[in-house]
Amino acid sequence: MPDFSKNLNRKIFKTVSEVASAQGVEVYVIGGYVRDLILKRPSTDIDFVTLGDGIALARGVANKIKPGLKVSVFKNFGTAQFSFKGISYEFVGARKESYSRNSRKPKVEQGTLEDDQNRRDFTINALAISLNAEGFGSLIDPFNGLDDIETKTIKTPLSPEITFDDDPLRMMRAIRFATQLNFHIEEETFKAIARFKERISIVSAERIIDEVNKILKSPKPSIGFRLMDSAGLLEIIMPEVSRLKGVEVVNGTGHKDNFYHTLAVLDQLARKSDDLWLRWAALLHDIAKPQTKKFVEGQGWTFHGHNFIGSKMVPKMFKRLKLPLNEKMKFVQKMVNLHMRPIVLSEEEVTDSAVRRLLFEAGDDIDMLMTLCEADITSKNEKKVETYLGNFQLVREKLKDIEERDAVRNFQPPVSGELIMETFGLTPCREVGIIKNAIKEAILEGEIHNNFEEAYQLMLKVGADLKLEKNNS
Ligand code: ATP
Repeated sequence: MPDFSKNLNRKIFKTVSEVASAQGVEVYVIGGYVRDLILKRPSTDIDFVTLGDGIALARGVANKIKPGLKVSVFKNFGTAQFSFKGISYEFVGARKESYSRNSRKPKVEQGTLEDDQNRRDFTINALAISLNAEGFGSLIDPFNGLDDIETKTIKTPLSPEITFDDDPLRMMRAIRFATQLNFHIEEETFKAIARFKERISIVSAERIIDEVNKILKSPKPSIGFRLMDSAGLLEIIMPEVSRLKGVEVVNGTGHKDNFYHTLAVLDQLARKSDDLWLRWAALLHDIAKPQTKKFVEGQGWTFHGHNFIGSKMVPKMFKRLKLPLNEKMKFVQKMVNLHMRPIVLSEEEVTDSAVRRLLFEAGDDIDMLMTLCEADITSKNEKKVETYLGNFQLVREKLKDIEERDAVRNFQPPVSGELIMETFGLTPCREVGIIKNAIKEAILEGEIHNNFEEAYQLMLKVGADLKLEKNNS
């Protein structure tokens, strides 16, 4: 039996051991923490299972660490949890579970350690280490989880059919762990996912999206999307993304497969940015390509307006997927909408006014947008990639230069509507808008600088053109 006592050097393990011993119960550290300990991955959640009362044990341990430490108790589940110095500790009595067809919620009974390990989703998540005085540090590994960690294998402890049928969320968890850990899913386990994919319908959207977000936050998110796709889950969860797949050929000309292009962009982006929402933007940047696709004689494949139409699809998808409908969603929409702009800009001559307009529209998100656009270059032609990246560098330099000169990033009109109304003795009306817009356009076109004096003079001129009289009172 492998001995992990040397790895249990946190003080908490001795404390838990002592309190359990005093209460006369057995206790084990179990699940994700043990897996991550072996994988040498940092972990901030530690789960304990006891052959006794989890709540009483949690209270005893918390009290010993720091008298008065708050313990959250979930009576229905027989679990208790507390946090100390950034680590969460959860205690539960060993249990046996049985499932009914229509729900992920099992009937729970008291059980043995073996029952508790049987109910775990994967062999790598079913490992336990004893914290009992006798055998402290010994690994209890009934399903050879240790070997599966070594061979980087995701496999269910019992029959995969029963495991996924009982709780279909486990299908998403399998794919998520495969992505996070860069493990493969054992063949029979994967086949069962493909067979039971429809069962995902009994899982709440919140739970599913939680796993999708974990996949997106992984170092190489494409692993998860490829697996979801080949298991048939992607089509159910995100048909819009699934529809990106495929190549159509007309007169011998094909377009690129937008699904695999999107995955390449996502992986490239993941190497540049940790931001979850920018990763969502990468996933959705070409989402409207299937519906805007057209073959134009002499021009080839076009996708006119896919950025704009794509940005309009975002709220509907976010709503269905139970993603936030707040500024995060607006950010994703903005990125999808603007993702073509820097490339168009870099293909033509990079004029000051075009850069100023881009900066005006992207505001503080300009750096994120540039990062997305750089990740969007997936050409296999190294020369092309070099040219594009060089052009983007030029755009970035110009952006910096213009930002320093004109400060249009968070554009505030240098002349307010109030001042326009006061100057010409107006109440809110169309003319005020015309003058404000003329000032904004002149600044973006570089006809005047972004300062009060020049804007004020332009206001007087436009006012005079509109035959407005200056109020002298
Ligand atoms: P992470 O913290 O990265 O999500 P984890 O393995 O700690 O990984 P948790 O969701 O915290 O995941 O679950 C803790 C443990 O509980 C798992 O390691 C597993 O043993 C068990 N578990 C969690 N969810 C399920 C499930 N749906 N079915 C069976 N066992 C589960």
